[in-house]
Amino acid sequence: MVQLQPQVADYGSLLQALSHAIDNMQLEFSRAAVLFAESSQWEEEGFNTPADWIRINCHMNSNAVWNALQVGEQQDKLAASLAAMKEWEIGFAHLATMANTADKVKGFEESALLPMAREHSPGKFFHKVRHYRHALDAQGYNREQEELQEQRYLRLNTAEDGCLLVSGLLDPVRGAEVRGALEPLAQPMGEHDHRTRDQRMADALHERVTAGAKTNLQVTTTMETLKAAAGAAGGEMEFSLPLSQESVRRVACDCSVTRVLLSQESLVIDVGRSKRLVDGALRKALAVRDKQCRWPGCERPASWCDGHHLVHWVDGGETSLENCVLLCKRHHRMVHEGGWKLIRAEGKIVSIAPTVTFGLARGPD
Ligand SMILES: [Zn+2]
Ligand SMILES: [Zn+2]
Repeated sequence: MVQLQPQVADYGSLLQALSHAIDNMQLEFSRAAVLFAESSQWEEEGFNTPADWIRINCHMNSNAVWNALQVGEQQDKLAASLAAMKEWEIGFAHLATMANTADKVKGFEESALLPMAREHSPGKFFHKVRHYRHALDAQGYNREQEELQEQRYLRLNTAEDGCLLVSGLLDPVRGAEVRGALEPLAQPMGEHDHRTRDQRMADALHERVTAGAKTNLQVTTTMETLKAAAGAAGGEMEFSLPLSQESVRRVACDCSVTRVLLSQESLVIDVGRSKRLVDGALRKALAVRDKQCRWPGCERPASWCDGHHLVHWVDGGETSLENCVLLCKRHHRMVHEGGWKLIRAEGKIVSIAPTVTFGLARGPD
């Protein structure tokens, strides 16, 4: 066992020695795990599988448990690999990939893989082994992928506070495609981008799904709410709790939604699209002039943007080239809900931070 010295000059060597010791212990753990699985203790204690017992009682995640069980079960086929680990030529992570392959692949040959394990990091080795498996048994590989994609799901649940809870699983190919589509959108953008990576990923998902798509949102609201009058009720939108007046003003700003306005007596006074709609010729002219989101530093393309009235039509602003600019979803939200101001100064669009700041609307540090 390695003893920790209070003063060590070569921390790199210390880490390697510790890691080797941990790997050896993991191997011991694997051997014991298989003996445990063959016993009846886990059943007597009311667990469905030995893996469940180990996961709960040894404080491990499922992956680590499966690796341990597989290495333990396949150790007879891995004599040369075990020797290589003893010599610290490979680590337990390599061994786990070896064991998994021995378990899954008919005609597994340790000698074909061990040189690869010696040469590559565990991650790279795992990747290379996938190719090896495909070369050996393309149909089996395809079958495995098909089984994985059968497990796909997406669950959307609305929480009590109106938030949408998203959970799901995608097979490797779909997963990679979705990631490939979201990652470029999740990069920090424009000035004043203080979002965390998780927030940027959430925004990317929303943007990818909604931008440019003709979502048919129907918002029901009153003139009082649109005018942000004190005491007005919130707006209504399908699948949502009542909207704040700022959200209503944003949705109504572009008007690419079906709009239902009610008078105070709940009579419908204005249904659907009207001349305030930023569409058709005006939309094309905006795309030609702005080319992208007009927020300073943002480069979201025109087709992903909302039309924004610098002076809201409800406050008497015109739906004209002069009074409209293109804004991406996030920046449109920052202007309305976030309280930022966009003004035209000497032909340029300037963003002004709100004096009261919260969430997205946080001002520059
Ligand atoms: Zn707007
Ligand atoms: Zn933008």
